[in-house]
Amino acid sequence: MRQNLRASRIMEPMTELQVSELFYSLQGESTRAGLPCFFIRLAGCNLRCNYCDASYTYEEAAHMMTLEEILAAVAQHPDVMVEITGGEPLLQKGCFPLIDSLLAQGHQVLIESNGSIVIDQVPPAAVVILDIKCPGSGSADSFAEQNLEVIRKRLLEQPHSVEIKFVLSDSNDYIWARNFVRRHLADCAAAILFSPVIDRLPPRELARLIMDDHLPVRLQLQLHTQIWPDASRGV
Ligand code: SF4
Repeated sequence: MRQNLRASRIMEPMTELQVSELFYSLQGESTRAGLPCFFIRLAGCNLRCNYCDASYTYEEAAHMMTLEEILAAVAQHPDVMVEITGGEPLLQKGCFPLIDSLLAQGHQVLIESNGSIVIDQVPPAAVVILDIKCPGSGSADSFAEQNLEVIRKRLLEQPHSVEIKFVLSDSNDYIWARNFVRRHLADCAAAILFSPVIDRLPPRELARLIMDDHLPVRLQLQLHTQIWPDASRGV
């Protein structure tokens, strides 16, 4: 039986984080799309999705940065919303003091996670955007099913503290995700986002599928790829 990965909060003193890139842009893939956002992209990932647009996070050497150095970079954008992404950010123990520090400074904090890590150590004041992998990603069966219970508890404690995203490669992925939503998320208060892999599933086709089923999900297009179509990183 596959064992769920669990995030750990235990951290050695002076632990550094492995950072892929830091940048200021617009949030592009959640209900907060369009808002100014500072991104902390941590290096490393435990999955290898076949459409991955951030493979440099695990193929290239990371920058080692202290918590203080990262916070100093964020501080150049006062009161900004901050998203911690990857790669898979929850693989790094240093992610948790980073989240705590950003929340303590009053930032709205988003964490994008690939669903394979149990998110019970993430404080409810932060918003987790959980990306549940569909079969077309090549990373199917990576979802930590324990997260279904964790999501329910988080939403009771802190409404809007979870958003659930499915990235769809084709109509088979749509059917898989639709069935997942109906089976596991029918009574879930989280926003549910369906996002097409743009060169595989035309948005118009996905729109039609959602409308035909009257499925209570939100069609999500990657905003930054429309604004900056030639940029592969830093947006
Ligand atoms: S989880 Fe994200 S970063 Fe990791 S391989 Fe999949 S798409 Fe790439």
